[in-house]
Amino acid sequence: MASMMDEAFMKLVQAMAGEDGIKIVKCLLNHGEITDDEIALEVGIRPNDVRKILYRFVNSGLLAVNRFRDEKTGWYTFKWRLQLDQMEGFIASQKRRILHRLQERLKYEEGHKFYSCGSQSSDCPRLTFEEAMESNFLCPKCGSPLQFTDNQNIINALRERIEALKAELG
Ligand SMILES: [Zn+2]
Repeated sequence: MASMMDEAFMKLVQAMAGEDGIKIVKCLLNHGEITDDEIALEVGIRPNDVRKILYRFVNSGLLAVNRFRDEKTGWYTFKWRLQLDQMEGFIASQKRRILHRLQERLKYEEGHKFYSCGSQSSDCPRLTFEEAMESNFLCPKCGSPLQFTDNQNIINALRERIEALKAELG
């Protein structure tokens, strides 16, 4: 696995399943194929929690599962394997999801005029024109008069990120 890919992949694993997800993925990478109970034992996470994370990865197409029958007990066990060939597609689909979210946000920023009291306090909200009308152009938090707030910086930053993502996606 290329190291850049490795890093992008681990970031996504972290976002999906946190530190436990990273431990589990590393364990899978080391073993190739392994049962969920073996993973639980090795990484020290409860089997139920391991399975919850594994199911999440299965749903994203990252994991394949094979069913084995134990000849002695007749019970079925499941062995899990990372589908490394799916990783590129997985990363691309996550990026497309982020791109979509940014495009929605851009549309919202471009489609509205915003008003705020200008206070640096994070409690004081930024309102759309409609919302500002409803609160009589007074800040609903501190009561100061609302002023038009230029959002061109936000729009520019969103456009930059969108262009960068598009370039990455090719
Ligand atoms: Zn305010």
